[in-house]
Amino acid sequence: MKRIVLACLALVIAQLVYAQNSAKKFSLVITNANVVDVINGKIIKNQLLAISGDTIKAVDDTKMAAKYKADRYLDAMGKYVMPGLWDMHIHLRGGDSAIGANKNLFPLFLAYGVTTVRECGGDMTPSVMTWRKQVANGELAGPRIFTAGPKLDGPGGTWAGSIPVVTPEQVTAALDSLQKIHVDFVKIYDSKISGDAYLEIIRQAKKRGMKVTGHMPFTVELKEAASLGMDGSEHLYYVFKACSSKEDSITEEIRKSEHTAHPIGLFGALPSLFNTFDSVKAAQLFKYLAQKNFSITPTLFISKTLSGIKETDHTNDSLLAYIDPRIQATYAGRVRGARRQSDEQTRFTQRYQALCASLVPKMYAAGVNIVAGSDCGASNSYVYPGSSIHEEIKLLVASGLTPAQSLKTATANGSKFFGVESFFGSLQKGKCSDMVILDQNPIADINAIDQISSVVSHGKLYSKSDLNALLAAIKH
Ligand SMILES: [Zn+2]
Repeated sequence: MKRIVLACLALVIAQLVYAQNSAKKFSLVITNANVVDVINGKIIKNQLLAISGDTIKAVDDTKMAAKYKADRYLDAMGKYVMPGLWDMHIHLRGGDSAIGANKNLFPLFLAYGVTTVRECGGDMTPSVMTWRKQVANGELAGPRIFTAGPKLDGPGGTWAGSIPVVTPEQVTAALDSLQKIHVDFVKIYDSKISGDAYLEIIRQAKKRGMKVTGHMPFTVELKEAASLGMDGSEHLYYVFKACSSKEDSITEEIRKSEHTAHPIGLFGALPSLFNTFDSVKAAQLFKYLAQKNFSITPTLFISKTLSGIKETDHTNDSLLAYIDPRIQATYAGRVRGARRQSDEQTRFTQRYQALCASLVPKMYAAGVNIVAGSDCGASNSYVYPGSSIHEEIKLLVASGLTPAQSLKTATANGSKFFGVESFFGSLQKGKCSDMVILDQNPIADINAIDQISSVVSHGKLYSKSDLNALLAAIKH
């Protein structure tokens, strides 16, 4: 008797769901999709995704397709559908004359399946804020933008547009100004900032509930910053320094030399840090950072690109055709810097980078939130928006992550940094419909990320030819 009642009830519910779905018209229904579950490293076959606007409203088996009405249908024909990529470290910058040139980078991101970027500080904040809003409203085709606005640094900092802070009062005023314009996080740069001001920023920002990441003055220790609640560290220099058995004494030497004629600084200390690398200390540190929910952006590709500038001829890079000459002009600075390096320095840098890369799978295994970031943008020579995050994802695999883990760093882990993983990072009912459709299985071979068939961004489907048309419009 009980069984019959339950069966009847199930039938009624099924009919109700059916009635609901058949009444509803979705904006897009994708069938025959092999959904890439980047979190569990699995492929879920024959899926149907019913989308309305930027939300996945239903996930079902393709054999149920008849009950899903839509304005537009896409038969994925067994292609692989994964969440849109997040590039967690980009810059929009280069001065007022480069505002249009920066806006023209958006099609490159979309063409490579990048549907979200974390903009880590620049000098065109009002424009970035406008674009963030326009993208969010669906008025501008481009990746969703999380932005730091201007960076915080000391007086006379390297990057234009940065806010200089020294005293606690200045930190308060700077954070007030950032909150007033609703930045998504705080980015600290370390060209001129004092250790005290740095730690003060973290303290005050955490009291306000703001996320904080950045570079770090070499006079500060990573563990101290993490203990104060810092959320992440950009690049691997600072975590590498914290893996030295002589971190204290090397830090002290840097501190003592700071105001002399020959300051040691970041790069000067790398060889001694390299020679005192301590794997036991590293393992303890990674465990601690994981407990603190700490995020690290390895930016392996830009390191490789910049250290290889001397022996690489980039003049025929096909993507230069999509980079505005005003941005290309900013590439000269780092090229000059790289050419000044001796062969011996270059060889050391390569050994150092190999050791740094080998830490990534260890951090990942310990539970550190590794996020993929390219550092593309003006001044960062030959690191092209879109393609550079593909290269980063491949280098993360080369460092020892599985393809699924690497894809997770470029999707779900980004949303984890911002605490928005309930809406982003996986293709499930109720979650964001930003997605990339690939010809081949990226979990089987990570190079599959280069073969993009189409992209969904803000509920809008971009076929391969739509993406090509976007690119053609910015070609010069
Ligand atoms: Zn950067």
